[in-house]
Amino acid sequence: MAERYDCIIIGAGPAGLSAALYTARDRYKTLILEKFIAGGQINTTDRIENYPGIERISGPELVEKMQNQALSFGAELKTGSEVTGLKKLADGSIEISCDKDKYLARAVILTPGSDYRKLGVPGEDKFRNAGAGVSYCGTCDAPFFKGKTVVAIGGGNTAVEETLHLCKFAAKVTMIHRRDELRATKVLQEELFAKLKEPNSNLIIKYSTVATAIEGKNRVESVRLKNVKTDKEEIYPCDGVFIFVGMVPNTGLLKGFVELTKTGYIKCDYAYLRTNVPGVFVAGDCRVGAAMQLATAVGDGVNAAMALKNYFRDPSWWNQPPAD
Ligand code: NAP
Repeated sequence: MAERYDCIIIGAGPAGLSAALYTARDRYKTLILEKFIAGGQINTTDRIENYPGIERISGPELVEKMQNQALSFGAELKTGSEVTGLKKLADGSIEISCDKDKYLARAVILTPGSDYRKLGVPGEDKFRNAGAGVSYCGTCDAPFFKGKTVVAIGGGNTAVEETLHLCKFAAKVTMIHRRDELRATKVLQEELFAKLKEPNSNLIIKYSTVATAIEGKNRVESVRLKNVKTDKEEIYPCDGVFIFVGMVPNTGLLKGFVELTKTGYIKCDYAYLRTNVPGVFVAGDCRVGAAMQLATAVGDGVNAAMALKNYFRDPSWWNQPPAD
């Protein structure tokens, strides 16, 4: 028989763990289902310094604290539990299927987060693991490239943070960005430019440049670069290619269950994070309009958990517009 919960949270990243902290403290029977281990993206972040109130902490350290805090109030966490299906039942509850088990919930909070965006060039899939030379996580894989030459692709916050991390290990890091201006926040850009100006810096930045192919025999040996302003191409020798070109929402499974935008984000109302399915909320990076920040994911989780109380008090609240 499927075990019943008041609230089931899908995804144990910062949004999910924050939601669980609040629902568990409200004494709702809460289960978090996580396909891997708790933490999501921040597990691969070695340095967080924009979470208000904590000057500096590593991602895994913060995850551990969030997880322990939620569990200490009675939330249950099942890791290695990939959700394979969701169904709204006639009695209003939601049935959640995992590989072996089924669960029932009065309400669900979707917090599946997002995954690495692929570059989509030849060679990316072939060499897609750190051993062969293509990686999406500098924090995880930089030590494998000690003393080597690597190319880092992207111009956002992740690209800058990870490029700086790679500079601690690799002998030479070439960052390439498709435009002539970085997207990353100014504080990070300043840090990057300071690194660039260091005497004998191991960092090079190539703007207006894209990678068109990753090449090699058994592992990465070079990347084909093209300057988008001059159309000039070059074969750039390197041992590794790190791809930091953004994230895509982890919502493939939810297609057909909740309404998604064309790009796969979960549609919701901004006041209460309600999806189009009564009893199903969303929080974090996977929702439409997300700011993709740790602090906003946490805020979302709390918001959804608070809104859920309105639904439990009166299910007809679901269709009411936000209060004046
Ligand atoms: P992002 O902000 O979406 O940046 C992606 C970067 O990749 C952009 O520079 C983009 O170029 C480039 N790009 C996208 N598709 C590309 C393609 N096909 N080929 C070449 N370049 C491509 O992604 P992110 O850096 O992973 O960050 C995701 C979110 O997390 C953001 O909201 C970010 O602020 C947040 N984040 C915050 C922190 C922090 O606060 N410390 C750290 C990491 C991430 P264009 O600029 O030309 O579009």
